[in-house]
Amino acid sequence: MNNFTIIGAGQAGLQLGMGLLQAGHKVRVVTNRTAEEVATGKILSSQCMFDTALSYERDLGLNYWDESCPKVNGIGLTIDNPDPSALINWAARLDAPAQSVDQRVKMPRWMARFEELGGELVICDAGIEELETYAAESDLVLVASGKGEVGKLFERDAERSAFDRPMRALGLTYVNGMRQDDDYSKVGFNIAPGVGEYFSFPALTTTGPCDIMVFEGVPGGEMDCWGEVDSPEAHLQMSKDILARHFPLEAARCEQVELTDDNGILAGRFPPTIKKPVARLPSGALVMGIGDTVCLNDPITGQGSNNASKASRVYLDAIVARAGGEFDEDWMNATFESFWDIAQYIVQWTNSLLLPPPDHALAIYALANDDRETAERFANGFDDARAYFPWFMDAEAAQEWVASRSR
Ligand SMILES: Cc1cc2nc3c(=O)[nH]c(=O)nc-3n(C[C@H](O)[C@H](O)[C@H](O)COP(=O)(O)OP(=O)(O)OC[C@H]3O[C@@H](n4cnc5c(N)ncnc54)[C@H](O)[C@@H]3O)c2cc1C
Repeated sequence: MNNFTIIGAGQAGLQLGMGLLQAGHKVRVVTNRTAEEVATGKILSSQCMFDTALSYERDLGLNYWDESCPKVNGIGLTIDNPDPSALINWAARLDAPAQSVDQRVKMPRWMARFEELGGELVICDAGIEELETYAAESDLVLVASGKGEVGKLFERDAERSAFDRPMRALGLTYVNGMRQDDDYSKVGFNIAPGVGEYFSFPALTTTGPCDIMVFEGVPGGEMDCWGEVDSPEAHLQMSKDILARHFPLEAARCEQVELTDDNGILAGRFPPTIKKPVARLPSGALVMGIGDTVCLNDPITGQGSNNASKASRVYLDAIVARAGGEFDEDWMNATFESFWDIAQYIVQWTNSLLLPPPDHALAIYALANDDRETAERFANGFDDARAYFPWFMDAEAAQEWVASRSR
């Protein structure tokens, strides 16, 4: 039996913590917000998760919301155009449903389950001093603090970080009253070239089923407009105004929407950043990062919680395989590289969507209007982004794909 301390009670920290408890280890999770504070606080994410990431939760028996959470059964893409022959508008089914459980619902339940399994939950805003104490007391300290300050300990990996500034101004709005899709539920992804993106999908929040509106505005552009919003009512109105101005096809679905609650809103921005996975404390002790702490993506592709789940699984397997051994720097780096084998494709694909779409991507989007296989292939890449390589990501391979499907 080993002894672990994890900083942070989010997707990465709690999922790994409960996996380690179930593998027979001793685990302490240190977090700076109580379950009550999380449950009654502001939303933090849109947290749509796809089947592979959900399967790792199921493996640990943490899938408490399979019945109550509305299913997301497909992905749709719309790029509006005044010329109807150039309109891109298609949808395709996912092979297995996705789901989004508000972290205000999920994390308090998981915190309770962590304690039921025998974990020690400590409420503390951990800084360097606390990390030193935990490092002295534990076989391994994992930092799963998301975008929290303590993550600054980890050095930015300049080679793996494509951007050094925020690429989108983000807005989130949780609503009731959205007109539902006639055919099947989906992440309805809309692009307004040069301005930004908007997508929405059904979810489960503190008050029951809802829909989540996600706004991704190009910085300095017309959707970078949340600074002037100073109340929940103004946030909702701004959400509707953006749709009316840039996504008229979606505006019609949202005429009746109301906020789920006054905390169902968020605005912010951050630079997508990959960090080195190991940090050294002043004493020389090492700590290891996981989740957003070391692999922070823009939410444009909805991959962060999925990544956190995938990382938890990779780290859990590596820890179990290390039974009796030391969690030294080489092991930490090798474990992160195993995660990076998966994550690099997710990061590359996500980053590519933050830049203006190249011609080969537009050609694939247009082809998917009439070609079911292309649409389904694209949709299911949200579950495993390795599927986009090379046919979507590489210009030459994309041209070949389009030519082969058009014959
Ligand atoms: C607008 C938006 C939309 C998103 N939509 C999606 C989506 O649709 N799908 C998806 O997969 N991902 C999405 N994400 C990303 C996703 O929310 C994150 O990637 C995910 O929550 C990361 O999990 P984590 O465990 O690494 O960090 P977090 O969930 O941020 O958890 C960090 C934990 O650490 C605690 N903490 C922080 N500092 C300290 C400290 N010093 N001491 C103790 N505790 C500390 C926090 O309280 C928290 O419990 C979105 C993000 C944003 C911003």
